[in-house]
Amino acid sequence: MQTCPACDLSLPDLNQYCSNCGHRLAAPTPSTVNAIEKPSSGDCEWLYPAGAFISGLITFFSSWIYCTVTYGFLFGFGLGWIPSFILAAIVGSLWPLIALAVMAFVVFLMLSSK
Ligand SMILES: [Zn+2]
Repeated sequence: MQTCPACDLSLPDLNQYCSNCGHRLAAPTPSTVNAIEKPSSGDCEWLYPAGAFISGLITFFSSWIYCTVTYGFLFGFGLGWIPSFILAAIVGSLWPLIALAVMAFVVFLMLSSK
C-alpha cells in the first residue's frame, strides 16, 4: 500500500495517480524497480581466454619453428616443443602484455639469424 502525499488516502501500489484527488504518486511501482537491472558484468569475458589460447598457440608454433631452424631437425623439432610449451603457457596467461613483445622478439631472432 502507498499513501497519497496530497490527501493521505491509502491506495494500492499499482496506482500511479490518486483515485481521490488525481495527484501523481511519487513512489515507483514494484515492476519499475525490478525493471532497473544492474549493469552487466561485461561482454568481453570471452576475450581473455580466447586471446590466451590464440597467443599461446602462435607462440608455441613460432618457438617450435625457431628451435627447429636454430638447432636442427633432430634437437629443434624433437625437443623444441618442451620450452615452446612452457613459453606458450606463460605467454598465454600474460598474453596482453607479452604476446606482442615475444612475437616481435621471435621474428627479430629469425631475421637476424640469416
Ligand atoms: Zn490524493
